[in-house]
Amino acid sequence: MNILILGSGGREHALAWAIKQNPKCDRLIVAPGNAGIAQMAECAAIDPCDGAEVVTFAEQNAIDFVVIGPEAPLALGVADDLRNAGILCFGPSAKAAQLEASKNFTKEICAASGAPTASYAHFTEAEAAKAYIREQGAPIVVKADGLAAGKGVIVAMTEAEALAAIDDMFGGEFGAAGAEVVIEEFMTGEEASWFILCDGENVLPIGTAQDHKRVGEGDTGPNTGGMGAYSPAPVMTDAVTQKAMDEIIKPTVAEMAKRGMPYQGVLYAGFMIEDGQPRLVEYNARFGDPECQVLMMRLGAQALDLLLACARGELDKAQVNWADDHALTVVLAANGYPNAYAKGSEIRDLKSLNEDSMNMTFHAGTKEIDGKITANGGRVLNVTARGASLKEAQERAYKMVDQIDWPEGFCRRDIGYRAL
Ligand code: AMP
Repeated sequence: MNILILGSGGREHALAWAIKQNPKCDRLIVAPGNAGIAQMAECAAIDPCDGAEVVTFAEQNAIDFVVIGPEAPLALGVADDLRNAGILCFGPSAKAAQLEASKNFTKEICAASGAPTASYAHFTEAEAAKAYIREQGAPIVVKADGLAAGKGVIVAMTEAEALAAIDDMFGGEFGAAGAEVVIEEFMTGEEASWFILCDGENVLPIGTAQDHKRVGEGDTGPNTGGMGAYSPAPVMTDAVTQKAMDEIIKPTVAEMAKRGMPYQGVLYAGFMIEDGQPRLVEYNARFGDPECQVLMMRLGAQALDLLLACARGELDKAQVNWADDHALTVVLAANGYPNAYAKGSEIRDLKSLNEDSMNMTFHAGTKEIDGKITANGGRVLNVTARGASLKEAQERAYKMVDQIDWPEGFCRRDIGYRAL
């Protein structure tokens, strides 16, 4: 098969790495890709958000299967454009991707299907939102309705913070994404994610994970896109996953089908778990980054068969061959991230790393200049390892980290500490 992956991050490098190991994959193209991806696949300079450009490229290159990595093309309907052109595609329609693109839509789906989640109210106007906050008191959570690159959620510990968040959102800080807001009850507990393939009707879980969102060790400091992750998540016990499946995932999938917008793709569910009870925090319509890196490390070549079964509506016939293993990824970021950082510094000694089915360095923001790998973003590398235990995976990952010569970058040294 000729396969096209859309995206350019560590998530897409991990997808490419797993897919390429499968003998069904003949030609692999990633658009636009990055410096690490370019070492193992062809990269094409097309815009993943331009549906017409993607369809034309796929037709010209006899692409048999397209895997959409990030949320932006999904929300813009690139999966619809591909399916309308008769091209097999992994990723939900724009309508189904509202589970990520609109917080209010997801709350309505939860309400209609009875899925446990935080109580909420939805506002299109600042004064009413502020009155609700004064009535409810803090802590309380204020969310921009639309896609805001992970920045549209304010967990306000005081009423003043929540009121300021309303001013920011209706003042245009998040653009159109903040024209509507959802205000939610503050939930306590432990967070974990679950990744479930859905073909519109059937569901197949492909792993649990936990990530570290804060920039500093001990989960302190500002939020980031994610500084590391590991799979599986110990808090997702058999009892918790069963409840999550019965009370949240299956009712969501059924409600989406009932509304004529069947969900096809990976459903990334974020839960808050307290006293053995999962409640939904959010859905995403694609793999997490860096969670995808640990999932692909554990799944390997079979990932392609699973994504194909999902896209073809054949998940009832698919199964995951689990190794009883663990994977952990450490994000290397440019000094200064998530605030201002410099681009262009050289990352040395990457070529000397031993990379195999147990150890991989996935690239996120990298660029090759004159034969040298240089930093080209905030989060730059995802050093990922697999092991028989989480401890072993962690030791392997940090051993690789210590071999990389990049003084202009940093990482957290405690990824996985909560589970360990
Ligand atoms: P979201 O983008 O909705 O996942 O929100 C980002 C982060 O904000 C989550 O991972 C949680 O840590 C936190 N968060 C979101 N909603 C709530 C809530 N209702 N209660 C407590 N924390 C929340």
